[in-house]
Amino acid sequence: MAENNTTNTKDETQVVKHQQIGHKSLLQSDALYQYILETSVYPREPEPMKELREITAKHPWNLMTTPADEGQFLNMLVKLINAKNTMELGVYTGYSLLATALALPEDGKIIAMDINRENYELGLPVIQKAGVAHKIDFREGPALPVLDEMINDKKYHGFFDFIFVDADKDNYLNYHKRLIELVKVGGVIGYDNTLWTGSVVAPPDAPLRKYVRYYRDFVLELNKALAADPRIEICQLPVGDGITLCRRIS
Ligand code: SAM
Ligand code: CA
Repeated sequence: MAENNTTNTKDETQVVKHQQIGHKSLLQSDALYQYILETSVYPREPEPMKELREITAKHPWNLMTTPADEGQFLNMLVKLINAKNTMELGVYTGYSLLATALALPEDGKIIAMDINRENYELGLPVIQKAGVAHKIDFREGPALPVLDEMINDKKYHGFFDFIFVDADKDNYLNYHKRLIELVKVGGVIGYDNTLWTGSVVAPPDAPLRKYVRYYRDFVLELNKALAADPRIEICQLPVGDGITLCRRIS
């Protein structure tokens, strides 16, 4: 309750620990996660996504790839909301891009941005073989100037049904300022890695890797800002490294 007294911003129900009211987090072991992958994800993973996942696993930066269960989630989400015009910030070898492209209708589009074309080209032959390359408009370079161009072009205001953000975490709030104008009312922005390997609840003296510590403050700031943004409804999912879905309402 000390926290309550010092800030006076949270009501009682928010500071009650979830265990006190019987809530449980189910995902308590790696075995349980492996069970999900082996039972529900890998057997239903489209062949091109499996191929791309295996190619990516051999790449030195494979830690960056979207996990298969999250790929399955994105694929389902894009279908559920009938998305047609989409955008992705942060492509790497293209696993989430392929998950999205496979879910879109034939005339669906993804504007995909990454500063690194080389990694995208690792996955590109698989994307081409899957017959979905025509949906992708890849822009090499930093995302922010591209978003600024779109902001200057009225055509793109409220244009996107779905936007997946998985690029430089220190820019997420800068992206949000622009993306909120570009996504349509009723459309969805998904911010990835919003639990940041669990470091969002690490004590100040926890031995975190340098990059985890550096980006953590940006993720914390983003999470607070999204929770306070009246233009969106949000849903924080503990899928992958945490994904926050934001549905634009005004
Ligand atoms: N979504 C990808 C997947 O499914 O494999 C993973 C993306 S990875 C976590 C982050 C990517 O963001 C990297 O490929 C990196 O090159 C890219 N990136 C970093 N800074 C960027 C920027 N300013 N603009 C666009 N992309 C950026
Ligand atoms: Ca990610």
